[in-house]
Amino acid sequence: MTTDHGPRQQARRTLPARKRIALIAHDGKKDELLAWARRWQDTLSAHQLVGTGTTASRVARELGLTVEGLMSGPLGGDQQIGARITEQRLDLLIFFWDPFAPMPHDPDVKALLRLAALWNIPVACNAASADFLISSPYLDDAFEVDVPDAGSWLDARSG
Ligand code: PGA
Repeated sequence: MTTDHGPRQQARRTLPARKRIALIAHDGKKDELLAWARRWQDTLSAHQLVGTGTTASRVARELGLTVEGLMSGPLGGDQQIGARITEQRLDLLIFFWDPFAPMPHDPDVKALLRLAALWNIPVACNAASADFLISSPYLDDAFEVDVPDAGSWLDARSG
């Protein structure tokens, strides 16, 4: 069955061998993310890390990893990560969001997860799935994914 929802045309994009990995953890999940990142420190150090403000600064300070820090999540950091996904400048998302804590930036969390789904980015929302992602044989190689074809989307809508 076909629907009118969403672009039909797909394009391909290559995730590079050296992945650009975003790290985000809500306050109730930060210690868990830190423990996870410590376990995978050697693997993570071979890739390019970016994170929301507090998460990035804790990972950098406590583990000695280089992490580009964006805005703190409640100040717009999740949206900055979402923009990078849309611009195809991010390859993998590790997002330990807290299922018990309502957030002032709940809409941003939903928006970020939507963009990750839309742009076919590998996402892990808990330690078990993050273990699977980071130990994937695909991690250190270039990897092709389907993404929406933005050009044909525009053509179809602009007539
Ligand atoms: P933080 O932001 O890393 O600055 O705490 C994370 C979030 O709340 O989304």
